[in-house]
Amino acid sequence: MESSFCSVDVVVIGAGPSGAVVSALLNKRGYRVLVLEKEHFPRFSIGESLLPQCMTFLEEAEMVEAVQDAAFQFKNGAAFTWGDEYDFFNFSEKFTEGWGTTFQVQRDRFDKLLADEAAKQGVEIRYGHTVSAFENTDGKVLLAVDSEESGAYEVEAKMALDASGFGRVLPRLLDLEKPSELAVRTALFTHIEDHIGSHEFDRDKILVTVHPEHRDIWYWLIPFSNGRSSVGVVAPREFLATMPGDPELQLKTLISEGGRLARVLTDAVFDTPVGVIEGYSSSVKRLHGEGFALLGNAGEFLDPVFSSGVTIALKSASLAAEVVDRELSNKTPDWEQEYAAPLMVGVNAFREFVDGWYDCRLQDVIFAKEKSAQVKRMISSVLAGYAWDTDNPYVRESSRLTTLAELCRDQ
Ligand SMILES: Cc1cc2nc3c(=O)[nH]c(=O)nc-3n(C[C@H](O)[C@H](O)[C@H](O)COP(=O)(O)OP(=O)(O)OC[C@H]3O[C@@H](n4cnc5c(N)ncnc54)[C@H](O)[C@@H]3O)c2cc1C
Repeated sequence: MESSFCSVDVVVIGAGPSGAVVSALLNKRGYRVLVLEKEHFPRFSIGESLLPQCMTFLEEAEMVEAVQDAAFQFKNGAAFTWGDEYDFFNFSEKFTEGWGTTFQVQRDRFDKLLADEAAKQGVEIRYGHTVSAFENTDGKVLLAVDSEESGAYEVEAKMALDASGFGRVLPRLLDLEKPSELAVRTALFTHIEDHIGSHEFDRDKILVTVHPEHRDIWYWLIPFSNGRSSVGVVAPREFLATMPGDPELQLKTLISEGGRLARVLTDAVFDTPVGVIEGYSSSVKRLHGEGFALLGNAGEFLDPVFSSGVTIALKSASLAAEVVDRELSNKTPDWEQEYAAPLMVGVNAFREFVDGWYDCRLQDVIFAKEKSAQVKRMISSVLAGYAWDTDNPYVRESSRLTTLAELCRDQ
């Protein structure tokens, strides 16, 4: 019976973090929610370093205990290195109140765990079901779905939430895609048996390394709790086009040039094929419309450098659940004012940090010898994901970073 026509309150496209959390939140409010997921979980996903702000939303969805019990790698901050320079941010030393620690997670396990928690709470999730069309008629939405097992069928709902990540289902179907203003960059990445014994690496933090000569090339090293790590490099597409070799050779060559990172990974065993994602930044003309809203990566994706993706995805889920609730209780919410604008406060704060990273303002701040403790706490707050706290001057005023970078350069 699973794949015949059905009618629900809310249909969610995709069971990644934003889909799992929004469906749990709406289920708690008493709505009938159906999640359609084209893959079978566990499935690989990139994006393994969480930010402490995520924990607030996991708590709201009653999933935080399951995440804490899952033996993921503890994370309490972010470390940065460039040549001989090294500094780190301890996320418990931050301006904004709230969680100061989180986890680094294998996303196949993490995403399955969240989806299973949503299912335990009563959400129906159908795996192997791909959404292929969307229509909005007479105040209802109609989705065409292809089930691997039983073929095509339709789902009717009062609202559709697109949590399809890089699948970007509704942006593609409704011509909402807009090119990102960020430059086209490529990420090369893999998982390794890390064999790290070096005192130069703190396993409780993500390590972000800047290439010694090319400051727009950077690497992540995200340790897991099982002796393995995720390692990747982000570089302009044109730069990689000039490098010889396949992606694996390119990744290894760049790591060997990475100074401290190269030393930390001396004994690492590269045992997994190298993945490539090109031009990952994306944007949309609008985040909502008649009968639908876009969540997480289906809306805007900036850049991996500050690990903000899952945090933005969960924030969008939390905001959307509230506005859908108002919509379905006939309170005619203003989606622009109640969903898009508040979501973009944090997205724009991260955008300023991403811009500041690539034009080196933020790098100059991070690697400055002397920083005021209060300023460091404010920067730490944004890096910990508290990008919606408008009491923080670095969230409220985008010009702050420029002024601070100038001060740091004059030191
Ligand atoms: C190189 C790189 C590194 C990153 N590193 C980090 C990091 O360290 N930390 C971090 O927080 N973020 C990181 N991100 C971002 C992170 O991967 C995403 O922001 C996050 O996964 C978004 O979650 P989501 O729920 O929106 O979508 P997803 O997690 O992508 O989930 C979407 C789901 O929708 C399903 N789907 C797609 N199409 C359809 C369809 N037609 N029908 C049904 N289902 C469908 C997919 O199968 C998928 O399961 C990184 C991104 C990149 C590119």
